[in-house]
Amino acid sequence: MSDSIFCKIRDREIPKEFIFEDEDIMVFPDISPIKPVHLLVIPKEHIPTIMELENSALMEKIHKLLKDMVKKHELDDKGFRIVINGGGAQAIDHLHFHLTGPWGHAADM
Ligand SMILES: [Zn+2]
Repeated sequence: MSDSIFCKIRDREIPKEFIFEDEDIMVFPDISPIKPVHLLVIPKEHIPTIMELENSALMEKIHKLLKDMVKKHELDDKGFRIVINGGGAQAIDHLHFHLTGPWGHAADM
């Protein structure tokens, strides 16, 4: 069992208001939002990075949830980004997906 900050949030050691939660996934707003919508979609299991993700059923579930969140926040026509950082670019050692928007159309990386 890891003591990453997301594991502590999962275990209620750090209080956090979830937007969505089930047995596998939790979703809450990023603490430092870069856009009006900036959500973190996080598997509850401690998977350090995308490189260790082997569970295709979990990935499928996350994909479906990301699509639901895009629709719920009406970002499908406004431009959105789904970002997974890795290596030195990843701030927290527990896999998480950033959903941000709106970005407008044809936003550059
Ligand atoms: Zn963790």
